[in-house]
Amino acid sequence: MSTHKRKPIIAGNWKMYKNITEAIKLTNGLKRQLYDIDYTDIVICPPFTAISEVAELIYETNIQLGAQNLHWEKEGAFTGEISAPMLKDAGCKYVIIGHSERRQFFGETNETVNKKIIAALNNNLAPIVCVGENLEQREKGMTFEVIKGHLQGAFNNIGAESAREIIIAYEPVWAIGTGKVATGEQAQEAHQYIRGWLRDSFGSDVSDAIRIQYGGSVKPDNISSLITEDDIDGALVGGASLKLDTFAAIILNSKRG
Ligand code: PEP
Repeated sequence: MSTHKRKPIIAGNWKMYKNITEAIKLTNGLKRQLYDIDYTDIVICPPFTAISEVAELIYETNIQLGAQNLHWEKEGAFTGEISAPMLKDAGCKYVIIGHSERRQFFGETNETVNKKIIAALNNNLAPIVCVGENLEQREKGMTFEVIKGHLQGAFNNIGAESAREIIIAYEPVWAIGTGKVATGEQAQEAHQYIRGWLRDSFGSDVSDAIRIQYGGSVKPDNISSLITEDDIDGALVGGASLKLDTFAAIILNSKRG
């Protein structure tokens, strides 16, 4: 396959950090430092409380808005939940689904991931779907099996035309927030497996179009070795997206060639 057909996409997952004042400050800083970047799609995913303010600040800029979760129903008696139409209304274009923290701490399953993906797609939100093995699974040689299970669950009942709208984030759980980044080769191996699964499931036209991000301790000094791999199309960034200088540097260093 020819290399680097896809535009990179880098998303900052702010998790449960940043009050409104802090979110505004970080967003304004990113706008100043990144206004002329066109070689990478830039996405920020603030906590729900800051989404409206951030949406206003980045309106008609090159920075796009994502959410960190959603419920699959459009409305109803689901205390504490937020729906796809609500996110769309607030200005979101993307939504993270199936993050390992949600799988681990909030009972997210392949089934709920699938329902959320379908709800997002039905509302023109691009899902960023997280897949990846934990340390024990990697050490037992189960990496591909785990990824396959996540992919089969996520893409259940989704046709090729919808599938091409999905972004996948390969996030080895052992690399998230630990400072242990997968090497470019380790990540490429997993990304290649994912691309192969997509090709077998939807054909090469779709698998060539889908962007696969790497996530797990991405920093300004390791993004270049990741982004140059054939099947790595960007990053999902946690900790390093919370600081202006590190997130901006990751974006700046994501230019290929
Ligand atoms: C994440 O939570 O998606 C993530 C990749 O976190 P970190 O960059 O902090 O490892």
